[in-house]
Amino acid sequence: MADRGKHQTGFGFETRAIHAGARPEPVTGARNTPIYQTSSYVFEDAEHAADLFNLSRFGFIYSRLTNPTVSVLEERVASLENGRAAVAAASGHAAQFLTFFTLLEPGDEFVASRNLYGGSMTQFGLSFKKLGWTCHFVDGTDPENFRRAITPKTKALFLEVLANPGGIIIDLEKVVEIGKDAGIPVIVDNTMASPYLHQPLEWGADIVIHSTTKYLSGHGTSMGGVVVESGKFDWTQGGKFPSMTEPEPSYHGLTFYETFGDFGFTTKARAVALRDFGPVQSPMNAFMTITGIETLHLRMERHVANAQVVAEYLEGHEKVAWVSYAGLQSSPYRELAQKYLPKGPGAVFNFGLKGGYEAGVHVVETVELFSHLANVGDTRSLIIHPASTTHRQLSPEQQIAAGAGPDVIRLSVGLESVEDLLRDLDQALG
Ligand SMILES: *Cc1c(COP(=O)(O)O)cnc(C)c1O
Repeated sequence: MADRGKHQTGFGFETRAIHAGARPEPVTGARNTPIYQTSSYVFEDAEHAADLFNLSRFGFIYSRLTNPTVSVLEERVASLENGRAAVAAASGHAAQFLTFFTLLEPGDEFVASRNLYGGSMTQFGLSFKKLGWTCHFVDGTDPENFRRAITPKTKALFLEVLANPGGIIIDLEKVVEIGKDAGIPVIVDNTMASPYLHQPLEWGADIVIHSTTKYLSGHGTSMGGVVVESGKFDWTQGGKFPSMTEPEPSYHGLTFYETFGDFGFTTKARAVALRDFGPVQSPMNAFMTITGIETLHLRMERHVANAQVVAEYLEGHEKVAWVSYAGLQSSPYRELAQKYLPKGPGAVFNFGLKGGYEAGVHVVETVELFSHLANVGDTRSLIIHPASTTHRQLSPEQQIAAGAGPDVIRLSVGLESVEDLLRDLDQALG
């Protein structure tokens, strides 16, 4: 278990995107990080093995805990988020599971913004319930709603600052204040922004989660997730976090916060949740994601530039009723976007068609360059009509409440020539 805390600090974001966590492979001198397609690692002797198993020494045992390629990814994302340490997982949802399994006991609660990725709503609202964890969803556009939903059992606040995909920005600093007052961590899903556009830990958040499946990998090739901790949260507050402060029977009574301090949370998530449930990221996917991250800064710059042009074009189109991009003058979230995402508010947004459901189906069936599919954050431009796909099982009232009314089209603007994207939308809108 390498000490992931030693980032190459002092270097700029772009330098860290290319170098953090990686060094030439010591045996062959290979400069790029190899794919360690390996499950297990030889012990030097019995004492070395015992030390590794006791977590009293860092090193590789078995790839369900650590793998050399995955470790580079963990260190790199921790560095880009200015965090202390990270643990990778098989997907963004697996990263969320590891986080909440480490935080919560059965009967515990947390509060989440209602403006979340749809899959997170299902995971938190339905599947977590079976584990005895209750999520209260609130309208995070008024941060005080988080405070109102807190009970003595509440152990965390969860939000996306750049929420997917309604063009909504949540006022993170206010949520952080509420978390501090309650003595509970603030967790941000930073997938839609990526650490290039927004760094939640710099605003006082305690934990950041990514689906690396999206912008970090960037090319639509690899599933993955990661959890990053700031290292600044005091887990002894109010006796609320026994998982961090009480002896762990499966490690001879070791106490994670006392032993590992500012990287105790991700160490616990790895040594217990990842060990016992096993949703590890594969070395191949970690390799693809590391490679993707090397150009994150260049890609995000172009993603937001293209998104701004496409949003402005759509806003001026006679068949378009509204556009919800926070980079537009007309957006009620423009000021918050400039505060939290000064380089641009991402590249995923919704727009509404005057022609309603029929017009929506027509557009997704008529585009040629945009791909009609359910993903975001690819180099390719993507389009979906939620009412006829991802949200089709909901009633029209539920669709509208979820921001997926019959007229809504979601775009994830890619890296193609922006003139080609405009031409494609133009012919599809007719
Ligand atoms: C995709 C996504 C997730 C889930 O991640 P997976 O890698 O698909 O498990 C969570 N949050 C956001 C914002 C996402 O876009």
